Amino acid sequence: MPESARRSFVGGNWKCNGSVAEISTLVKMLNEGKHYDTVDVVVAPAAIHLYQVKEALKVPVEVASQNCYFQSSGAWTGELSTEMLVDMGLKNVVLGHSERRHVLGETDELIAKKTKKAIDAGLTVIFCIGEQLDERKAGRTNEVCFGQLDAIKAVLTEEEWAKIVIAYEPVYAIGTGVAASPEDAQATHEDIRAYLAKEVSQKVADATRILYGGSVKAANAAALFAKGDIDGFLVGGASLKPEFMDIIKACAN
Ligand code: PEP
Repeated sequence: MPESARRSFVGGNWKCNGSVAEISTLVKMLNEGKHYDTVDVVVAPAAIHLYQVKEALKVPVEVASQNCYFQSSGAWTGELSTEMLVDMGLKNVVLGHSERRHVLGETDELIAKKTKKAIDAGLTVIFCIGEQLDERKAGRTNEVCFGQLDAIKAVLTEEEWAKIVIAYEPVYAIGTGVAASPEDAQATHEDIRAYLAKEVSQKVADATRILYGGSVKAANAAALFAKGDIDGFLVGGASLKPEFMDIIKACAN
């Protein structure tokens, strides 16, 4: 599949941010936006704002949960089930984010269980992977990223990869203002695509969107997106600002 056959994808990870009023301003910005005909745009508000955003969006922008659990219901205080997400009409969930891996202690095994449950529920998973700075310096980028992918490879069928969007987010670039260079990001994206070809199938490697995440801004989006294996972005800080619309524009045909 030629690179141009993969539809661009831009995710906005709003993390633990926003009041009801601020979220309403962000939705207004999205409702006044363009380029949704050529770019898949998905925003991930905090759980408490999911319903507000879902109800207020008037444009084809999808809403993602920032998390889900692998149990369907019951005594799991603080968790969200995939059944609840589907019931609300949501189609996407972010899993494996570095903050959940490294701050909240989620393991590959837990993330794989959640991923499988989300896929079984029909959700698309924005599956985040990425190495930490010491791992990059030690030349272990691929080992770390491939290990994170191995965990979901073990639980997914080839067909189920159609519901995975990979977000490569080098941890040292998240929220620091220092993005990976387009060349460094492209090199890892190319390696991830080669991993998919070898470990899953050429078809999955060709079709899977691989997003870059880590200090993406309006100023660096076009140069990153120009690289052949970068199919869009997962954006944190800048997704809370008007420049998010410029990042979407940078990924439009
Ligand atoms: C993120 O949290 O997924 C992220 C990429 O954050 P930022 O854009 O702020 O670096």
